Amino acid sequence: MTDEHLAQAGFETRAIHAGWEPDPSTGSVIPPIFATSTYKQDGVGGLRGGYEYSRSGNPTRTALEQTLAALEQGERAFAFASGLAAEDTLLHATCVPGDHVVIPDDAYGGTFRLVDKVATRWGLEYDAAPVSDVDAVRAAIRPGRTRLVWVETPTNPLLNVGDIEALAAVAHEAGALLVVDNTFASSYLQQPLTLGADVVVHSTTKYAGGHSDVVGGALVVGGASTGSGELAEALAFHHNAIGAVAGPFDAWLSLRGLKTLGLRMDRHCDNAELVVGFLAGHPDVSHVYYPGLADHPGHEVASRQMSRFGGMVSFRVTGGEQQALAVCERTRVFTLGESLGGVESLIEHPGKMTHASVAGTPLEVPGDLVRLSVGIETGDDLLADLDRALASRP
Ligand SMILES: *Cc1c(COP(=O)(O)O)cnc(C)c1O
Repeated sequence: MTDEHLAQAGFETRAIHAGWEPDPSTGSVIPPIFATSTYKQDGVGGLRGGYEYSRSGNPTRTALEQTLAALEQGERAFAFASGLAAEDTLLHATCVPGDHVVIPDDAYGGTFRLVDKVATRWGLEYDAAPVSDVDAVRAAIRPGRTRLVWVETPTNPLLNVGDIEALAAVAHEAGALLVVDNTFASSYLQQPLTLGADVVVHSTTKYAGGHSDVVGGALVVGGASTGSGELAEALAFHHNAIGAVAGPFDAWLSLRGLKTLGLRMDRHCDNAELVVGFLAGHPDVSHVYYPGLADHPGHEVASRQMSRFGGMVSFRVTGGEQQALAVCERTRVFTLGESLGGVESLIEHPGKMTHASVAGTPLEVPGDLVRLSVGIETGDDLLADLDRALASRP
């Protein structure tokens, strides 16, 4: 498809057709895995298609990057070896010692560790604020020194929601960039660049890849923000200079995953809604966290900026930590494990697993909390599984 056709096409069409035209020499409809480190030059500096060395560029990775940009309605995307590699490169490309960033007070643990333990060693300072409280984020900004306001929405594991438009205004007022980690929502449910964000971060390991078979990350820039050209150039430079790029096979797997993102997300959402309905009516469940619920504090904002509410659900049980742990160990369809966003349903105990490192801090999560990454299996099987796990009280 031509770029012009693609620009007007729907999400699924872009997911399937962006980034690759059937190969002129063979007709291959899918990009090959270009397992090469270097490229023949037609005379010194005579590069074919700009390819010189695979850290700087690789056609399989280019196909993934163009698809990611098309799905986020951005201008350019950069694919990395992991979500954290993307984040580290973003920090290097935008900040210098003495700069300040605002991060969510319930940031993804790896993001918190990167900022708190790694970036502070080379002189970055940070404050944490709740993403759902625009005034608190504004108050955390240090005028003239804050370079990035970093937001996740929804957050993990309590699914707090940040108002991307309002946060973009607050960041821009202070001359800072708004970074949105869009991993939980995915490009299908939410496009932060269209709401004023300057940079979108993804762990493509999760919904984008979608099959729990690859680790990867991405940065996407463009859209409404001014100066994205300069920002894109800085990211392109650091992508190559730091070199934490996605390899061709990883890029190929992520691209294959993206083609079905829309279908998968709709099914994740359908199943999550079934699970939420079931849990909300269960006598052993004291609270369900899901932005699609009318009593969720972020429901109104989520309804405005997300097309649906996603596949992540957290809940608390009446039987305390013992019951939460028992539920996690008794499911048979939900697999006990960390991570999220794959086709298979996962269950975990944040207090003892993903969020064990924040125990004893203000970010500690309740012991009676269970987190689900609701997969795309047959919905009734998921409900029966949870019913059985909840029924057998310790
Ligand atoms: C997993 C995750 C990351 C980190 O990505 P990796 O691919 O594991 O490096 C960042 N943000 C969020 C919200 C995540 O869930």
